[in-house]
Amino acid sequence: MDPALGPPDAMAEKRDELTPMMRQYHDLCARYDDALVLFQVGDFYETFCGAAERTARLLEVALTSREDSTGEYPMSGIPIDNAESYIEELLEAGYRVAVADQIEEPGESPGVVERAVTRVITPGTLTEDELLASDDNNFVAAVARDGTDLALALLDVSTGDFLATSSATREAVADEVSRFDPPEAVVGPDAPADLFPETCMVTPFEADAFDRERAGETVSRYFRNPDALLASDAEIRACGALLSYAEYVRGGEHEGERGGTTDADADDTEPEDADDARLEYITHLTRYDPREYLLLDAVALRSLELFEPRAVRGREDATLVGVLDETACALGGRKLRDWIRRPLLQPDRIEARLDAVEELTSGVRRRERLHELLRDVYDLERLIGRISRERANARDLRSLRDTLAVVPDVRDQLADADCDRLRQLHADLDPLADVRELIDDAIVSDPPIEITEGGIVAEEYDADLDDLRGTARDGKRWIDDLEERERERTGVDSLKVGYNSVHGYYIEVTNPNLEAVPDDYQRRQTLKNSERFVTPELKDREDEIVGAEERADELEYELFCDVRGDVADEVERVQGLADALATLDALVSLATAAAQYDYCRPEIAARDDGEGLEIDVEGGRHPVVERTQESFVPNGARFSPGRRLAVITGPNMSGKSTYMRQVAQIVLLAQVGSFVPARSARITPVDRIFTRVGASDDIAGGRSTFMVEMDELATILREADERSLVLLDEVGRGTSTADGLAIAQAITEHIHGVVGATTLFATHHHPLTELADDLEAAFALHFEVEQDDGEVVFHHEIAPGAATGSYGVEVATAAGVPESVVERSRELAAENATDEAAGGSSSDDPTTDETAPATATADGGERATASRSASNHDTDPSADVAAELRSLEVAHLTPVEALTELDRLRRLLEE
Ligand code: ADP
Repeated sequence: MDPALGPPDAMAEKRDELTPMMRQYHDLCARYDDALVLFQVGDFYETFCGAAERTARLLEVALTSREDSTGEYPMSGIPIDNAESYIEELLEAGYRVAVADQIEEPGESPGVVERAVTRVITPGTLTEDELLASDDNNFVAAVARDGTDLALALLDVSTGDFLATSSATREAVADEVSRFDPPEAVVGPDAPADLFPETCMVTPFEADAFDRERAGETVSRYFRNPDALLASDAEIRACGALLSYAEYVRGGEHEGERGGTTDADADDTEPEDADDARLEYITHLTRYDPREYLLLDAVALRSLELFEPRAVRGREDATLVGVLDETACALGGRKLRDWIRRPLLQPDRIEARLDAVEELTSGVRRRERLHELLRDVYDLERLIGRISRERANARDLRSLRDTLAVVPDVRDQLADADCDRLRQLHADLDPLADVRELIDDAIVSDPPIEITEGGIVAEEYDADLDDLRGTARDGKRWIDDLEERERERTGVDSLKVGYNSVHGYYIEVTNPNLEAVPDDYQRRQTLKNSERFVTPELKDREDEIVGAEERADELEYELFCDVRGDVADEVERVQGLADALATLDALVSLATAAAQYDYCRPEIAARDDGEGLEIDVEGGRHPVVERTQESFVPNGARFSPGRRLAVITGPNMSGKSTYMRQVAQIVLLAQVGSFVPARSARITPVDRIFTRVGASDDIAGGRSTFMVEMDELATILREADERSLVLLDEVGRGTSTADGLAIAQAITEHIHGVVGATTLFATHHHPLTELADDLEAAFALHFEVEQDDGEVVFHHEIAPGAATGSYGVEVATAAGVPESVVERSRELAAENATDEAAGGSSSDDPTTDETAPATATADGGERATASRSASNHDTDPSADVAAELRSLEVAHLTPVEALTELDRLRRLLEE
């Protein structure tokens, strides 16, 4: 175990002898033994022993020590005022952090100050605005298994967004994991932890929480009928465990904002019953089937640059979301990301969004006005979350109020909307006038951050408060007038009334005037040139003021909490409003991008079951690439069930990858409900997009690039169908040319004949273009380049047919490779071209076994001779190999089986 976690050995050995404070630390460490405990001592969060050594090094803060009668302990502390940034570093270093606050004022009760963990901060359960990206969700996941069923639950603790899904296949759940990319996952004893990528912190959690019955109870504390809401026991387990975890990280002591309230709240240290732990703002649970959305696996998410730029281009906003995101508020930013993450399948849902985008595109003034108004919208989801968790201050309430104030204007903009979606939004935009009025009446317009020191509640909101304030005010007025009265009474003109925090109010008389002091003056303080006095009357007044002020502060806090509680009761309405504003902002954003970048509305072609895809794009552009460079050449694309496999050739850098991705991105954008970068587009919704991008583009973690490639291909061949869009870019590069060719060809044939997916296949293996002639639904496309005086000119223009050469050598010249090397390359290229042409044609070709091995890379040299001599004597093994290859059920092979098979076939050739 990490030495920074759990109770320090040095303390555990002598727990009973420790000072009460250190015992408290020890016990909290024992209770939160998977977290680093930050222990409040005054203005600092301290850590001790191993934890102190770790934090000192990690956070570069001083390592000191604390000595008491029981020994000396290393200690290091971080200032509470600046704790968030340190906590962020601890999280990045892979720690969970348990924050143990003092929950009473020192001296409030005898003995050591009471402390409790007020929150456990983990990467997946952040609620602190400072630690969260505003425009994206931050999910914690839980997985649970029940029989063959594997369920995934996802919760954003900061907003209350809660989702659940399940599948019988591990891959489908893994795809959903990569879709949402949770930074943390909670797992039970039997869950497959390997579902999660390395970037995800895996948190083992009480097995009990995953128990079917216990989880069922937990879920039913939140939702009326879990069995109707969720589809399986596995889902109930995952959701129940996740809710328990969210309650656990909230900490045992909810009232984190006030050190020791003097009122009834102090009782909170009592063990809480389950209902108290409930997070009231988790009001919706969305159960979905992965098949309801366009499925994008991890590879597709990455290679289509939805959220992360491809390393090579390096510009952080060079992503699809970077181009599309014109949202005005955080709510809309998150909604848009959710839409891009989960593009739709049903034409009517897509059309509903497109109608709204179209309407917003045409009305420029309205769109701009809406954008302007939405800029004033605060993050209502997180705001209401904080309000509900009792973490909100008075400023948060005012922010809510300010947002509510914008809503009527936003609504007005939609008053004469035409399309259903916008009309619905108009109806959904509830300005929550009652809530706004409550806050307006109760909370002053510019309240302080602190909620325990008064100055929050407005005048005339509460009669008792007004009385107390009146008393304090009258008292102060009486004191203000006192100076004048006493001067008159004593005849001392220099007499002064003042206040200091130790002695309170006083009357000050300078030494020369001391004989004028009346009998009722009582001496308080002697200064060098003067004496300070009080009178019983002044003392009484002072007590009255202080008493009234103290009671007013307390009363204000109570009133504030009541208002906050009343607002929290409206959580569902606030969330409904937040969702409407989020949707509107996302739609306005899509319309803005559409107008700004000259996109067109795609036509969505409905299709019947079992029918293939139709994609017809004229003048299409790559939405990201066209933004990152000066000019972009539009290219069309036309696919239909009878014309569904394009073999695309062209030299490096001619635009093959860009073209393939642009087709996929146009399809994806259309399914998001966005306009698309094209002159016109007609699209049937695609169920899944698969991509396999050349090995050289890939950072393979641990596995060989070839293994990665085979693994991904196996997935595609197994799972794609006639409604999938498949992009294959330089497949087969991870191995020698001959193998690569064989694999690429076999795959292409299989996709064409068995899978039936719409496929874009880019290759620099020219022989493969012949496939386009051989296979009925295949066709060839190419990028032409021109040679101008030995220079290569890229036109980036796609044309029918196959490219005539690879131009690699010319590109090398252009790049400044010496002439002699280029000459030699030309010779070799000429040789290879003959070889390749032969190798790629039908395997029955008698020249095959003579030539194919010759194209093999370095290690193939010896084999080539062996093979040639063998074939001269025995029957031709390549025919057997070809036959075997043909009968190979590639889709049913695991990657390892594929490798083994490949190896066997190669041996066969060698024998
Ligand atoms: P390939 O896959 O054929 O090696 P890429 O698709 O990676 O080529 O394109 C190489 C570069 O050419 C891109 O980074 C881009 O800058 C440019 N490019 C590609 N397609 C176009 C286009 N249609 N119009 C303008 N530039 C393009």
